Amino acid sequence: MTRNRVRFAILLLLLCGPGSRVLTAQIGQKPPAMGIPASNALVGETAPLAREAQDWLVELIKINTTNPPGNEQAAAKYIASILAKEGITAELLDLAPGRSALVARLRSSAVPDPSKALLLVAHMDVVGVDRTKWSVDPFGGVIKDGYLYGRGAADDKGMLVANLAAFIALKRASMHLNRDVIFLATADEEQFGDASLKTLVAKYWDKLAAAYALNEGGKVMVKNGKVQYVAVQASEKVAMNATVIATGQGGHASIPSKDNPVIHLAAAVQKIGDYSAPVHLTSITRRYFEALSAIEDDEIGKWMRVIDSGDRGEHAQRVLSDANPLWNSMMRDTVAPTMLQAGIRNNVIPSEARATLNIRLLPGDSSEALLAELRKLVNDPSVKIELQPDAGLAAPNSSIETEFYATITKVSAQEFGGVPVLPFMSTGATDSAQLRLHSVQAYGLRPFPLTEEDDRRMHGDEERLPLAAFAKGVDLLTKIVAEFSVTH
Ligand SMILES: [Zn+2]
Repeated sequence: MTRNRVRFAILLLLLCGPGSRVLTAQIGQKPPAMGIPASNALVGETAPLAREAQDWLVELIKINTTNPPGNEQAAAKYIASILAKEGITAELLDLAPGRSALVARLRSSAVPDPSKALLLVAHMDVVGVDRTKWSVDPFGGVIKDGYLYGRGAADDKGMLVANLAAFIALKRASMHLNRDVIFLATADEEQFGDASLKTLVAKYWDKLAAAYALNEGGKVMVKNGKVQYVAVQASEKVAMNATVIATGQGGHASIPSKDNPVIHLAAAVQKIGDYSAPVHLTSITRRYFEALSAIEDDEIGKWMRVIDSGDRGEHAQRVLSDANPLWNSMMRDTVAPTMLQAGIRNNVIPSEARATLNIRLLPGDSSEALLAELRKLVNDPSVKIELQPDAGLAAPNSSIETEFYATITKVSAQEFGGVPVLPFMSTGATDSAQLRLHSVQAYGLRPFPLTEEDDRRMHGDEERLPLAAFAKGVDLLTKIVAEFSVTH
């Protein structure tokens, strides 16, 4: 057999479980069409593993892990039972009553070598729901019109199960691994509290230590029914909050005075709302725009190509900031007022009024410098701005020159007909910052091809995952992990 045919045979073995009756039927069959398979029926025909994994995902959605309180231990026990059937012993790492993470390892050698190991990580907890806005039970695992509906379907139980499927595929195929592959299901990601990866890293690092990690945070973008690009998260902004506090003379509202703190707060918030921090392009953002320019329309593509040029750069940055709020946020520190607090009665002028600012810093930028800028802008002695003590972690970028990044890029491009694969800095925070601070080259990928519309349902109402996208994601993730970890 040629090298390519050997590889194809390996992948087929990986994708089919023991006793799979469809193995012979699959040989010689064409791979699914590029982009999302046209018919949901293809799920069962081309990916028996994904079909099995779909049932695991339904069961996991039914285990309500809304955080708080989390209750991730129930999900961890269910995953342990799936692994046990495959002959894999998982370990539950206890974090708090009812809250555990789960770790399991496929060994490549008797002595673990963290300098090569690959960590597959996803979180088991989900955010809450407003049940009145759902047409189905968000914890029912309901399948309707080719979609699986449920809280966590896309964030992040879908990826959790795709990781699990890839992990199990390696075990079933009994291939010789060139590195340890570690499966990790985390807790408390949505609150980043005491049961989160932070604690796991502090208490159980020897069980997780790896050189590379695959986590959430990227995306496979679908537009007009086709995959447009794959974004691989290699960096993220740093989240923090600040409080704006206006103080003044309180008193009877029938005798208003000019130092009413509500008025001073409103003026400060107005100025902060109009503020735009200077543009700062990171190496990853440069590469992102460069690659995206090839598929954007001519006008936008043209500006993306000159974003960094001396004479037209500034205008290009303005055009792109105005065109897309995401691009704006990728180019600069942002400040969003999110909460206001003042007053106790409608006829009493309060002596204090407060606003919360949610701040997203580019990695490497200084919060003190930004706050100094805001204080100067507000320029009001009755208004203070204070950083809250819950700042996120600033971590270095993952390198986009590693062997693993190259594998993700190569396999993703193959899977979706040569679409661009872009490095990406997410504006939201993920657990990867914690890993990058421990020198792990962590990359974010949500392997499911999703439209902008489905993407937006995460953390919102009627979260759902197209079953065809799920199958495709299992396929992509399994191929990436196999390509990187199997000696062939
Ligand atoms: Zn998530």
